[in-house]
Amino acid sequence: MTDVDQSPRVANASPHHPGAELSPYEIARHYFDVAATRLGLEDDVRAVVGSAYREVQVQIPIRQQDGKIHVYSGYRVQHNGARGPYKGGIRYHHEVDLDEVRALAALMSWKTAIVDIPFGGAKGGVNVDASTCTPDELQAITRSFIDKISKVLGPTRDIPAPDMNTNAQTMAWMMDEYGKLNGYTPAIVTGKPIALGGSLGREAATGRGVIMCFAQAAPALGLTPEGTRVVVQGFGNVGSWAARIVQDQGAKIVGVSDAFGAVQSEAGIDAHALHAHLAAGGRLVEFEGVDVITPDELLGLNCEILIPAALGGLINGSNADRIRAKAIIEGANGPTTPAADAILHDKGVFVVPDVLANAGGVVVSYFEWVQNLQHFKWSEAEVNERLGTIMARAYHEVAERAAGDAVPLRTAAFEIGIERVVSAAKTRGYIS
Ligand code: GLU
Repeated sequence: MTDVDQSPRVANASPHHPGAELSPYEIARHYFDVAATRLGLEDDVRAVVGSAYREVQVQIPIRQQDGKIHVYSGYRVQHNGARGPYKGGIRYHHEVDLDEVRALAALMSWKTAIVDIPFGGAKGGVNVDASTCTPDELQAITRSFIDKISKVLGPTRDIPAPDMNTNAQTMAWMMDEYGKLNGYTPAIVTGKPIALGGSLGREAATGRGVIMCFAQAAPALGLTPEGTRVVVQGFGNVGSWAARIVQDQGAKIVGVSDAFGAVQSEAGIDAHALHAHLAAGGRLVEFEGVDVITPDELLGLNCEILIPAALGGLINGSNADRIRAKAIIEGANGPTTPAADAILHDKGVFVVPDVLANAGGVVVSYFEWVQNLQHFKWSEAEVNERLGTIMARAYHEVAERAAGDAVPLRTAAFEIGIERVVSAAKTRGYIS
């Protein structure tokens, strides 16, 4: 063994993903490379679709309550626009950096292609800890960010949406700020409040799509929702909706974590009551009837389904071996490092990858954009039904390819996504 081989696995760890062997971009790049190599993608084509079209970084100076000017960095990365306008969320997190936004933007290009909606891929972020800001400060940060990136946005150019720590309110500020410069333009963002042209079903859509993927995978896993034990890592929008929806179908939530701790209960944690408890300002670890555990213990809980719905890189080489779930449905973006993916594969854990599993959000964003352009409103039942059709079709396309080529779902999904992007890019003449 060389010295390099003996060095600790976390030597290159991204500072904000404890335990992860690779940075978010390195993780996304690895899965891209595996699929691109299998597809025999030429080097020049790989160079075009493997890198971002445009990366914007802006300065956001804001005077905050403490009287001081805080300087935040805002990012918007447009990865690939061959299949349609750039599309993707904007996250607020104190450790957001260009590496992470670049990774998430590329994942959006594959995601929109896998579910076959007419968008490219983009992502944005601001390195602010939203929990330390007042609503007025968040509004000021949001407006300043949109002012500075508005030139690269547009309803047929680039359409932001919510992501971690941003929500319908954030989108309302974005729409309003963009409107000041360009006139009333609801289709400039998705995930808006219903009163401003948001779509019914959008808030729950990512979590609902995760559970729709579970429903598609369940027969092969020998599972039905009734009695299935589910662990949810992260209880933000995606995790809490997935938990509530699967519980309503008869599953039992046996473990939950959030940014501040983790809890378990063999008897089951009522996801609706927990959601209400947290919405009222309660702490997860103080929820009634649960045992407090460590976030790492959460991953080792006895369950059938594990839903990562938090930051990327949290399932890594240091903890993957402990996972006892039969299947992982990736609600988060980039939750599983390549080292963990290999361990899970050897253990026979069935993994539904992020680019498929969490695509429900952007699918309903597409419906919202369509409704805005048509000035027409769909019922929630119609939104959910159309979402179900798209998720089922995408799941089966990926699963059939995976079975036919004897590859994991992740490889099959990336292959389908990359193929569609390459074909659009070639037809347009971006790569000849
Ligand atoms: N932020 C979500 C995602 O990662 C939704 C993006 C969108 O709706 O544009 O897929």
